[in-house]
Amino acid sequence: MADIKNEPTIEKKASKKKKSSKLFNFLVDIMAEIVYAVDEFNDILAMGANALGRGTITAMAAIVTGVDNLLLLIDKMCLWIKFKVLTNVHHIAELIVKNAKAIVRIVSGVLITSIAMFALMAACTGYEYSYNGRSLGFINDQGEVKKVVEVINKGLSKKYDLDVNIDDGGSISYKRAVTINKDIDDADDVLMRLTNMTDANVKAFAIVVNDKVIAYLDSHESASKVLNNISEKYAKGDLAQYNSIGFKEKVEIKSLNTIVGNLKSPDSITKYILKHKTIHVKTVKTKVYKRGIKYKTVYKKTKNLYRGDSSVSRQGVRGVERVKAKITYINGKEVKRKILKKKVLSEPVTKIVLVGTTKRPPTVGDGHFIRPVNGVQTYGFGWRWGRHHDGIDIGVSTGTPIHAADGGTVVHAGWYYAYGYAVIIDHQNGYQTLYGHNSKILVHVGQKVYEGETIALAGSTGRSFGSHCHFEIHIHGTPVDPNKYV
Ligand SMILES: [Zn+2]
Repeated sequence: MADIKNEPTIEKKASKKKKSSKLFNFLVDIMAEIVYAVDEFNDILAMGANALGRGTITAMAAIVTGVDNLLLLIDKMCLWIKFKVLTNVHHIAELIVKNAKAIVRIVSGVLITSIAMFALMAACTGYEYSYNGRSLGFINDQGEVKKVVEVINKGLSKKYDLDVNIDDGGSISYKRAVTINKDIDDADDVLMRLTNMTDANVKAFAIVVNDKVIAYLDSHESASKVLNNISEKYAKGDLAQYNSIGFKEKVEIKSLNTIVGNLKSPDSITKYILKHKTIHVKTVKTKVYKRGIKYKTVYKKTKNLYRGDSSVSRQGVRGVERVKAKITYINGKEVKRKILKKKVLSEPVTKIVLVGTTKRPPTVGDGHFIRPVNGVQTYGFGWRWGRHHDGIDIGVSTGTPIHAADGGTVVHAGWYYAYGYAVIIDHQNGYQTLYGHNSKILVHVGQKVYEGETIALAGSTGRSFGSHCHFEIHIHGTPVDPNKYV
């Protein structure tokens, strides 16, 4: 218990000691600063005293100009003093004791002179304010101008629907000045002067296309933003895929003066340019890809075909090549493709077409008939099981070509009652022939055919029991036995 009681007493003593030594150091600090300041202050004091003595405007101006230097000097001095105090406390203390009287006198002098000086300065000096280097007038307080600037900014921003700052980048500057014989502007004067100035001119950044201004923006950044917006519209995705991204037109951002009313927001200008296509985005890409190579077609004459007929003897096959191309796009649309390199991966195969040279036979009947198809006759002409069979049946497999028995004109090509898919040819000499039960018909009504021409493929359509060709010959509408004519 005793231990606990004792300890705070010790601490109290220690803190008291600490406190008094702190106060001492503080006093030493101040006094030392004054002592060492004396020499440095002498010049300034002399200047101030001189000015007060003469009491002229010119001298005041000299002091005003001197203030900045003075402040700098004091800063420097304080640092130096602190350094000295820290390194030489004891010596300074002695110095203070020795010169106590002189010090007090000097301190009072400095104080009085300073107070008088600053009072005078406050009464006789203000600021000259300028807009873009043009002097507008004098004011007592920079705050007056700043308040007015805020009001104007708000008004213009609303009027032009963009973020206007007439003091952007320090358009308004202030200079300390002696105002003893000058008119001092109040807020109304400032408002009037600044309003007139902003109506006249602002520094703007213009987007210039082919040497023609198309838009004014408030900053270089805003103008760049517009150009970026337009680029991004057409240069999408990974930008590394492009060899270059630029504009078709000569596009520049230039610093120009204009009236505030001409300024527009980046968004509205972006929309305008995209709508009117005032600027075209030009992008260039290098691409490697495969593409087909067209094949050639060669025509060869053959006696095996009639004139006007042709048949493909070899199909063409496209080749493949690997191509490296430089492609230019305007607003995302390809306008130019330059092939830089080509390598054939597979050669194309030429198509061969045979063209007939043999004179085409007549398409009018000569009264002589051939058998439409070679095969075994399965049924003959005549009566059978109480029914008359109007033709002959030739048994052939499905798909066997059926030929016209004589030249003539097709008068029926399609489904024909029990005959299934049938063809009827009129030989224009009183004869007609019929070919029934086909699987497919290859001619159409009105088509002129020659003797031997393929007109259908055999089958078993209609009333039929197995693939065959049912063949009839009619003379003036009456069926006759084909075996007597072929
Ligand atoms: Zn039959």
